[in-house]
Amino acid sequence: MFRCGVFGGEAMSRKLRMGLVGGGPGAFIGPVHKMAAELDGKIELTAGAFSQSAERSRAAGASFGIDPARAYASYGEMMEAESRREDGIDFVVIATPNHLHLPVAEAALSAGIAVMSDKPATATYEEALKLEGVVAKAGLPYGLTHTYAGYALVREARSLCASGKLGPIRKVAVEYFQGWLSRPLETTGQKQAAWRSDPALNGPGGCIGDIGTHAFHLTEYISGLKVTGINATLRRVVPGRKLDDDCNALLRLDGGATGTLMASQVAAGERNSLRLRVYGENGSLEWQQEDPNRLSVKWLEGPEEIRHAAGGYLGADALAVTRRPGGHPEGYIEAFAVLYREFAETLTAWKAGKAYALPATLQGIEAGVRVILFI
Ligand code: NAD
Repeated sequence: MFRCGVFGGEAMSRKLRMGLVGGGPGAFIGPVHKMAAELDGKIELTAGAFSQSAERSRAAGASFGIDPARAYASYGEMMEAESRREDGIDFVVIATPNHLHLPVAEAALSAGIAVMSDKPATATYEEALKLEGVVAKAGLPYGLTHTYAGYALVREARSLCASGKLGPIRKVAVEYFQGWLSRPLETTGQKQAAWRSDPALNGPGGCIGDIGTHAFHLTEYISGLKVTGINATLRRVVPGRKLDDDCNALLRLDGGATGTLMASQVAAGERNSLRLRVYGENGSLEWQQEDPNRLSVKWLEGPEEIRHAAGGYLGADALAVTRRPGGHPEGYIEAFAVLYREFAETLTAWKAGKAYALPATLQGIEAGVRVILFI
């Protein structure tokens, strides 16, 4: 049996208009935001300040096929011009290095424009507290793209933990291993490595901030438990590196559970190996990002189950974010697009005069502050 999600929420007679900050030539995540936002046909990239260089912003605008007049030289100029247009952007996406997350969000919210920001919400904890106040005062939708929350089988794992079928949760083991910073790539001019290794542009947490945050977020998101204590060792393995590149942490969670969180960007040979296991009294689950369409569920007194994406036996939460029949794999872009679908529904309802509330599955500023407290 195959069932898949329908795009619910308020009807909108036109696509929501998105302005992108970041995503210039050679950028990693900005173009991913465009693909994901546009996947369900409810959003279109309309404007952008894609780079700190006006020329590169124009070049990116041309490659994205937007009106050249709406490829701006700076994000300030974009907020100013777009907030005055009748057909101005409905929301801004932030896909820049971390130090710009707060100023761009502030500029958008003070111009009356909603925000979807990539993680982390800000570069520092002080900034996160400030942004929390700005979001509350603006009263506009603010969402965060903790990408892995968008996978159908992450939703299934979350529902399974919430159902109590695994029994009381006793242990969570999460690891996020990458190898791309195994050598001092930041000294070669590689741009993603350069800003991530500079505390002024990245913030104080290197690997722990870049990918440890995803592991931390997923731990709480899937288990439904809050981390209440952390004992961690952060190391700088590559000589001369200014920020941590390898982390090992012991976690204490609500209800007496404990856990381990390992994150490394010097795990040579690994690509994007995010893996999470949750152990309860009756059984356990395991999900791996590089094989995201399978969820292993093992029982103390029964055989191992492999649940496949789009299986008709999955729970409602997983099926609600499933687009295709089983065996037609969904991946990173689709998971990202689930978050955009939920944000679009929130924004559309808010525009129709309804009170603003993000669904529990989509992260907002509270989660953003918590993740930065973790760093
Ligand atoms: P990147 O270096 O590839 O891209 C950053 C872009 O921002 C570049 O195009 C750069 O020109 C642009 N930029 C810099 N200053 C600007 C300014 N003043 N105005 C407009 N644009 C400006 O970086 P990236 O790897 O794409 O990371 C960007 C953000 O996305 C980071 O915060 C990172 O943590 C986050 N990220 C999230 C995920 C995820 O899975 N959710 C994955 C990767 C990156």
